[in-house]
Amino acid sequence: MPESLINLLSLDEPQMVKLVRSLGWPSYRAGQILRWLYRRRVRDIGKMTDLSLRDRTTLAAIATIRRSSCHTVLSSQDGTRKLLLTLADGMAIESVLIPNEDRLTLCVSTQVGCLLDCTFCLTGTLGLRRSLKAHEIIDQVLTAHEQLEMEEGDRPITNLVFMGMGEPLANYEALETAIMILTNKSWGLGWSPRRLVVSTAGLVSRLEKVASLGVNIAISLNATTEAQRQFLMPAASRIASLQSLLRTCRHVSATARRRLTFEYVLLAGVNDRQADAQRLIALLRDLPCKVNLIPFNEFPGSRFRRPSDSEVSRFQTLLRQGGLDAFVRKRKGPDILSACGQLGNLSATIATAPLTLTVPESRC
Ligand code: SF4
Repeated sequence: MPESLINLLSLDEPQMVKLVRSLGWPSYRAGQILRWLYRRRVRDIGKMTDLSLRDRTTLAAIATIRRSSCHTVLSSQDGTRKLLLTLADGMAIESVLIPNEDRLTLCVSTQVGCLLDCTFCLTGTLGLRRSLKAHEIIDQVLTAHEQLEMEEGDRPITNLVFMGMGEPLANYEALETAIMILTNKSWGLGWSPRRLVVSTAGLVSRLEKVASLGVNIAISLNATTEAQRQFLMPAASRIASLQSLLRTCRHVSATARRRLTFEYVLLAGVNDRQADAQRLIALLRDLPCKVNLIPFNEFPGSRFRRPSDSEVSRFQTLLRQGGLDAFVRKRKGPDILSACGQLGNLSATIATAPLTLTVPESRC
């Protein structure tokens, strides 16, 4: 596929309008093409049958639809599936489909690797290879839809979380474009922003901006003192101190009238003690929020330990007694390294048994 061809997926709506006008076509053609890309997920301009054959030929002479070239699916015993996508430049990203009672959540990546270095996260050990383009973020959603169609008819994805590889707010422009495509009701996927969650390690300067898009926001907190945060999330704590992060959260919550979610990875003997719970209560008491407790998910070479179920439940009880809405996130897909904080090491993934490997031949 010649590199010089325009990838239609890389164009936003104004750019698509410009393209169709440059071909002497009416502007509404842009909407037709965008619907084919996102609603019907075609990979071939020849299938855009509400364009005349001549117009399809004209368009195919200058443009193409370039999606991820290959994907592999790793299936966990608990029904979680990890999708490994190879991008046009050969780099790989991961997204995860997580079934949970009546919900089906897709967790997508926004970067290859991560700029930050949270010590409890496998992705953080990779460093940042590059940020994803908006169409590479959306490609994960389109691929997940195709995978579901192939396996389960048309089971819908109910929620989408930007919690995969990378720090979403460090790739803000692409994130915003991807959210626009996801929520566009005329030609995009038509999602309500309330079904989307953007998770951040605390890039405070962009919190307000992302809140204005109407999405839910989750803050990866994990620490109750500056020193603890510096130890657990060194890069994030250099960007914003705990105090300034919480100050911004209070402001965002008040202006956007939004209840925030705080994620707290529980590390045995590090941040799961009674004193940690008491400090957490004191920090969050005056903020409309809920707390998601995530018992640490071990990965090869990790230096932390997962607390026992009784230790987790004791911590949760302390928070609840202190007036916080605290929930424990169920562990999903640990056998394929797809649980929280485990994304990124594909070779480690493949070395982990037992796995069911499904490679759809048509895309590889
Ligand atoms: S927890 Fe998130 S922000 Fe921190 S290193 Fe991992 S992917 Fe990056």
